[in-house]
Amino acid sequence: MTVTLDLAFFRRFLDRATRVITAESTRLTELDAAIGDADHGVNLKRGFTSAVQALAADPPDSPGALLTAAGVHLTNTVGGASGPLYGTVLRRMGKVLGEDPVVAPEALARALAAAVASVRRLGDSAPGDKTMVDALQPAVDAYAEALDRGAGPVAALDAAAQAARDGAEATVPLQARRGRASYLGERSIGHLDPGAASSALLLTALYEATDPELCAAEIPTAAEPQQEHGQQPPAGRVGTVLVSHSRDVAAATAALARALVGTGDPAPVATAGGLPDGSVGTSAELVRQAVRTADEGAGVVAVCDMGSAVLTVKALLAESGISDAGVRIADAPFVEGAVAAVVTASAGGDLAAVLAAADDARTYRKI
Ligand code: ADP
Ligand code: MG
Repeated sequence: MTVTLDLAFFRRFLDRATRVITAESTRLTELDAAIGDADHGVNLKRGFTSAVQALAADPPDSPGALLTAAGVHLTNTVGGASGPLYGTVLRRMGKVLGEDPVVAPEALARALAAAVASVRRLGDSAPGDKTMVDALQPAVDAYAEALDRGAGPVAALDAAAQAARDGAEATVPLQARRGRASYLGERSIGHLDPGAASSALLLTALYEATDPELCAAEIPTAAEPQQEHGQQPPAGRVGTVLVSHSRDVAAATAALARALVGTGDPAPVATAGGLPDGSVGTSAELVRQAVRTADEGAGVVAVCDMGSAVLTVKALLAESGISDAGVRIADAPFVEGAVAAVVTASAGGDLAAVLAAADDARTYRKI
C-alpha cells in the first residue's frame, strides 16, 4: 500500500485529527486535571475545530499553505502552552514544505524534524522532561529511520505513530521538568503527560490519513461530561491567602493566579494586602478576614511576600483559632508560589499537595 502526500492527504489528516481530538477531549482534560489545570482537551478541541472551520471557508491550495494556516489558527485559539507549541509544529512544517503540491516522503521527514526542533527550542524542552516532546521526538526519529531502511511512507508513518504512542506511555514514570506539571515536582510521577497523549493521537491521525476509507468512517465520541469546561470541583477546596505589604500587589497576584488556572473555576483566593487604610504594611486583621474568606474547610495556604507579612502570619498561627482552621505558611516566592498554590488547589489538590506545590516553586530555576 502506498499514498500520495498531496493536499487531500493533509486535509484528511487535519480532519481526522480534529475528530479524534474531539472524541478524546474528555480524556485529555482528565489527564490534565491530574497534573495540570484540566483544560488540555478543551483547549485542543476549541483550536482544531476553529482551524478546520476557518480552512473550509478559505481553502489553502498546497500542503504547506494548509499546515501553515492551521498552525496560525491553533496558536491564536488553543490557549494554554499547547497552543503556541502545536501552532509551531504546523507552521514550521508548512514552511519547510513550501508550495510543492505533492510532498516527497523525505521532505516530510525534514519538515517533521524541523518542527520538533522548533518545539524544543520554544519550550526549552528535551526528551525526558515529560512533555509532548517525549512523543514527538521518537515519532520523528522512527519515521526517518523507517525511510532509511527502505520503507514507504505508509509503513514509516505507522512506525512514527507507534513510536509516539510508546513515547507517550513512557512519560508515566517521569517527573515533569517543564510546563505546569513541573509545579507538582515528584507528584507528577505516575501520570501520563496530557500533551504527550495528544501528540500520540495526532501522529496516529497522520498515519490514518494514509487510508481514505478509514478516514471516511465515523469516530464514536465519548459522552460529554456534565461540565467539561473544568471538572466538577470537589466540595471544599484548599484556599489560598496572599499576604503582601501592598494591596495592589496582592490583588494583581490573585488576578494572575486565577487567570492561569484556565478552567474558569479557580479555588478560593483571598488577599490581605497593605494596611486597612491602603498604605504599605501588614495587617493582622486583614489576614484573619482573608483566611475566613478563603476557608472552605479543606485548609488554607498562606503565601507571603517578606518580613512582617511572614511574621504576622506566623504570629496569628500561634493564636488559637486560626491554626485550627488548617492554615499553613508556604515557603515560597510570592508570585510563583501563589500561582502554583491556586493551580494545584483548583485541580483538587489537598492541603499537603497545595503546600508542596507552592514550596516547589522556590526551586524553579530561571537560568
Ligand atoms: P497549559 O499547561 O498552559 O494549561 P495545555 O494544558 O493545553 O496548556 O498543555 C499542556 C501540555 O503542554 C503538557 O502536557 C506538555 O506536554 C506541553 N507543554 C507544556 N509546557 C511545555 C514545554 N515547555 N515544552 C514542551 N511541551 C510543553
Ligand atoms: Mg492545561
